[in-house]
Amino acid sequence: MSDKEIKKNKVFLETYGCQMNEYDSELVRAILKKENYEFIADEREADIVMLNTCAIREHAHRKIYGRVHQIRHDRMGKPVMIGLLGCMVTNLRQELLEDHSLKIDFIAGPDSYKRLPDLIREASSDGTKGYDVTLSEFETYSDIYPTREDRGNPSTRPSGSLRVNAWIAVMRGCNNFCTFCVVPYTRGRERSRDPQNIIDEVRRLASEGFKQVTLLGQNVNSYRYETHDFAYLMEEVSKVKGIERIRFTSPHPKDFPDRFLDVMANNSKICKQIHLPLQAGNNRVLEMMDRTYTQEEFLGLVEKMRSRIPGLVLSTDIIVGFPTETEEEFEDTLKVISQVQFDSAFTFKYSERKGTIASKKYPDDVTDAQKTERIMRLNELQKGITYKKNKAHIGQTHTILIEPAISDKPSHNSVGRTDGNKLVLLSQNGYRMGEMVKVKVTDATPHALKGHPLNLSFHPSSC
Ligand code: SF4
Repeated sequence: MSDKEIKKNKVFLETYGCQMNEYDSELVRAILKKENYEFIADEREADIVMLNTCAIREHAHRKIYGRVHQIRHDRMGKPVMIGLLGCMVTNLRQELLEDHSLKIDFIAGPDSYKRLPDLIREASSDGTKGYDVTLSEFETYSDIYPTREDRGNPSTRPSGSLRVNAWIAVMRGCNNFCTFCVVPYTRGRERSRDPQNIIDEVRRLASEGFKQVTLLGQNVNSYRYETHDFAYLMEEVSKVKGIERIRFTSPHPKDFPDRFLDVMANNSKICKQIHLPLQAGNNRVLEMMDRTYTQEEFLGLVEKMRSRIPGLVLSTDIIVGFPTETEEEFEDTLKVISQVQFDSAFTFKYSERKGTIASKKYPDDVTDAQKTERIMRLNELQKGITYKKNKAHIGQTHTILIEPAISDKPSHNSVGRTDGNKLVLLSQNGYRMGEMVKVKVTDATPHALKGHPLNLSFHPSSC
């Protein structure tokens, strides 16, 4: 029997990269389940293995190539179809199709998932490679209700327990073309979903027990549908009964009108937390990145946000070693970090992405040793700030939303998150996922808070 003759209905899907990819995998599950495909957790039993890839991280393609070879090797000759999905395939389609050692059966870009059943059929019927990496100006998948994986172990979750967070893509694509970023090339132009369609999805999620929704988009706060902006959408979502918390990611600093900040400040369901990517603190570097703001404008925005939204928790993204970045220019980034005092930061060493403006215009001339030295200094600085910010919560009272336990072991205590998204390790276990618990913070580490529950009327071990 050849690879192409087997009945291919058991699918193993592995997801790399960001939350948008996780969400897309939920869409893929919904699309294929409707066609009677079954998703399984053991890749060795699968007829089809699909890797939902990411193009953001350095050497992402090498990792995927290695994974494909490993899957074929582990099968020891047992037939399997392999399909690649996601950002990497849009970026490297030619290379993937021409590399015969990989033996990829089908390829689908981020706007082609509805065609997956056809692509699989094409690949399995006559052996031609099924591929579609067309980028759409309209596709938002608003007619698909994603099959969300229940995080947490059902066998240890008490019956009747609530679910926690659902991701909802409200817009896709990006028009910004920051010079280092592949997203506008791999995911196409911005397009937003009809707000009514989003509200319907949120209502359904609430009826299924979800307590929190996180609105997703590559440039989420540039959401625009007819006359409706992101502030309108957030307000409408907050009216859905049963949803206790609303978060969003990832915004761009250029899209924060005062009206949106006021909606955030005055709506108790919208979490007082913003991930605000700075990327660099030096004006020349920011201009080369085409981030459209200066250091001064960014600092002004932070000041305005904090004055309008008391208790706001801020996090950021930083790239060190952008082409031609000097030591003094890097120190501008450190100065901004010290001044803003972000609660946390995701830090990256610059690395070229094929097809981006930076890869065509600027030689990657900061050495890896310099980048490593800079990122270590940056991380050290941020670690101290994060620890200091966490310690400032000791003695404070927060309401936390209980999340899936870090471990299934009964000895592990419950965990939850504050409105500002700080992880809190509780001094007791047995709380139900999705429950809101009032806690007093008793201690802090650089990574989390420790807290004691104050909901004395409820004693978890008695339930
Ligand atoms: S805003 Fe810039 S960094 Fe963010 S997805 Fe768009 S191009 Fe990439």
